[in-house]
Amino acid sequence: MKILIKNGHIIDPSQGIDGIGDILIEGGKIKEINRGREGVGGRRRTPNSELSNNSELRTIDAKGLIVTPGLIDMHVHLREPGFEYKETIKSGTEAAVRGGFTSICCMPNTEPVNDNGAVTEFILRKAAEEGMVTVYPVGAITKGLNGETLSEIGELKSTGCVAISDDGKPVANSLVIRRAMEYAKTFDMPIISHCEDLNLSEDGMVNEGLVSLELGLRGRTVVSEEIIVHRDIALSEYTGARVHIAHVTTAGGVRIIKDAKSRGINVTAETCPQYFTLTEDAIRDYDTNAKMNPPLRTAKDVEAIKEGVRDGTIDVIATDHAPHAQFEKEVEFDYAPFGIVGLETALSLSMRLVKDGWITLSRLIEMLSCNPAKILGIEKGGIKVGSIADITIIDPEREITIDSSKFKSKGRNTPFNGFKVAGIPVITICKGKVYSSEW
Ligand SMILES: [Zn+2]
Repeated sequence: MKILIKNGHIIDPSQGIDGIGDILIEGGKIKEINRGREGVGGRRRTPNSELSNNSELRTIDAKGLIVTPGLIDMHVHLREPGFEYKETIKSGTEAAVRGGFTSICCMPNTEPVNDNGAVTEFILRKAAEEGMVTVYPVGAITKGLNGETLSEIGELKSTGCVAISDDGKPVANSLVIRRAMEYAKTFDMPIISHCEDLNLSEDGMVNEGLVSLELGLRGRTVVSEEIIVHRDIALSEYTGARVHIAHVTTAGGVRIIKDAKSRGINVTAETCPQYFTLTEDAIRDYDTNAKMNPPLRTAKDVEAIKEGVRDGTIDVIATDHAPHAQFEKEVEFDYAPFGIVGLETALSLSMRLVKDGWITLSRLIEMLSCNPAKILGIEKGGIKVGSIADITIIDPEREITIDSSKFKSKGRNTPFNGFKVAGIPVITICKGKVYSSEW
């Protein structure tokens, strides 16, 4: 089966491609890329296989659409094994495809925790059998996420983990995280750091400030995040390990990371669409769908996050897709679990940054595909001849109203239900298989 994507606006920052062209896929791999401007400066050569008029050829007319390397979400909670009522590898990867993602990383806070090769192998086997996208497991830093005993990091690496993280929990013990960095460095794995000082967090549920005071909800200071950003950057500088700061939400965090980068420290960072789209005001009616960890911050923080996205301090947009069952969120604010789903809304929410002039489309694709691939050390994030055909086709103009009842994810926990957005993935090609996303 051959697939020809015609007349699309191909954007692949990894190769500096930004122009109209055709892509031919054969046997699940990129066979040919032909570029050139339509109508201007001569005609583009049509791929030979099209001329042969092969009946096995499927043509996708991508005129007016954007064709990019498949999107990569390096921060997803798939919930299987252990919490299949929230999400499964099957439903989570379906949600990924609908959102334009062709590869995702799954965090280790499952039951059992992915702290050893057997769990990693289970995830990989399930993903191969039932998953629609490529799943890259992230292993736990410590056994059972206990924060004290290191996992078998070498075993995690050799069975297929691409990074280690105790995401959802910080590693409180600085000596443990130092040792983890030293091991991770030997295996050339990044450490994905959930930055939170639990003592300073004081069981806070929302940002500490005027809103928390007015609502009578226990607040969590920005410093509880920033102090661990500081610590892990200091340890990265000391050990030389690669540290990736997960879900940055504060102006101070952006400033610390920017400073570290200017000094050449091996640090990268991600934020999530919720942190540049919403402020703490989203919790004003005690909406548990806006309860997340880290919490939504102030307008000043949101502005700083956008600035960090613009100036390159923040490398990656990830979702922190964290599905929960509806009954779990339909309780008093205090009792609801943290987290929102994000796979099916991330691209369109991020497109707003482009529409509002913060970043170019090319920079957006870099953050949603090329940079995660680089950080994880995986051979994705580009449309290269001979590479696996992972491609996302985006309609930049198409407007929709986000409707959580239509999500492929089992989770409905989003604060974005009813939001009007423009720019959505319409076709996702994973390993040469074509899926059209219905909206
Ligand atoms: Zn997470």
